Amino acid sequence: MCGIIGIVTGHPVATGLISSLKLLEYRGYDSAGIATMQNDQVWRERAAGKLANLEKKIKDNGVSDGGIGIGHTRWATHGAPTEPNAHPHIIDNVIIVHNGIIENYAELRDELLKGGANIQSQTDTEVIGHLISNQLKIDSNIETAVQTAIGKLTGAFALAIMIKGQEDLLIGARKGCPLVVGIGDVEGHYIGSDALALSPFSRQIIYLEEGDFVFASKQTYKIFDQSGALVKRDVNYVETQAATMDKGNHKHYMAKEFFEQPDVVQHTLAHYLNMDNNEINIDAKLDITKFDRIIIVSCGTSFYAASVAKYWLEEATNMSVEVDVASEYRYRNPP
Ligand code: GLU
Repeated sequence: MCGIIGIVTGHPVATGLISSLKLLEYRGYDSAGIATMQNDQVWRERAAGKLANLEKKIKDNGVSDGGIGIGHTRWATHGAPTEPNAHPHIIDNVIIVHNGIIENYAELRDELLKGGANIQSQTDTEVIGHLISNQLKIDSNIETAVQTAIGKLTGAFALAIMIKGQEDLLIGARKGCPLVVGIGDVEGHYIGSDALALSPFSRQIIYLEEGDFVFASKQTYKIFDQSGALVKRDVNYVETQAATMDKGNHKHYMAKEFFEQPDVVQHTLAHYLNMDNNEINIDAKLDITKFDRIIIVSCGTSFYAASVAKYWLEEATNMSVEVDVASEYRYRNPP
C-alpha cells in the first residue's frame, strides 16, 4: 500500500510533503518522490528505496520549491521499484501520483502507443497522465477533461494531480483506494491517503466517497461525485495522534507492533468489559447459527492473524473457516 499527499498553500511545500510522507511510511513502500510547481516550472525529485534516499538527493541537488506540490511513497505493482518508475510522473502538462492498480492499463497503453504516445515508464500510472493530457487538448475545461479521462479507467485508484500553469489547483480522485481532503488549520488545502498524513496541517477532514473528484485551491474546494454532480461531503473534526503512529524508540514498525500487543489486546477487550459488574458484553448482531462457513479475507499481517483465528474459530464454532488473500479474493466467485 503506498501513500499520497498533495498540498496547495501558496507557500513552499516541499518540507510539508516530506513530513507527510514520513507519516505514511508505516504503510510500506519501495521508492518515493515529490514534485512542486512555481512560475510554470515543475521541480521533481525521486529516489528508489527509503525516504532517507530522497531526502539526501534533495539535500545534494537543492530544492526549487513552489506553493503547490504532490508526493508519493510507491509500492510497485507495474514496473520495477526504480527511480524512472517512481512517482510523480510528468506527462506533458500533467503531474500525477497514484495509489492502486489500473486493470485495463494494457489496452489503454496499446491505444496510446498507436496514437504516438511517448511512454517513459513501465507503470500503469503513466497511462492515466497521458489520458488526461490528451483530453485537455480537446476540452479546455479542466474539471470535465479530468473526469472524462479518469472515467476510462477500470481498477482501483487514489490520485493527486497538478496541471502545469495552474498553480492554484490541486486535483484528487478516488475509486477503491482511500483519499481524504484536509482543510488547513492555518491555510490552504491538502489531500492525502489518510488523516494521519494530514495531521501536521489539518484537523478538518473530508473522507471522499467512492468515485469522488476534488478540485482544491488555496481558498476553496469543490467535490464532484461519480456522476459529475457537485456534492457536499461532511467535514469531520479529527484529533489524529501522530505520536502513536511513529516508530517511537523501536528499530522498526514490526518491533513496535510486537511490544504494543499487550496494550492493544487490553484496549480491545476493555471495550467489551463492563467493569461495574465484571460482565463481558459482546453485542454481536450476527446469529452465527444461520451460517455454515466463515471466510476471512485479509492481506499481509492480517492474513497471518487470520490464519491463527481460523484455528480458534473452527474450535469455537465447529464451522468450516477459510482464509483468503484479499487481492485474489475479488477475482474469485466462490460457491
Ligand atoms: N500501480 C502503480 C505503480 O506500480 C502504483 C502503485 C502504488 O500503489 O504505489 O506505480
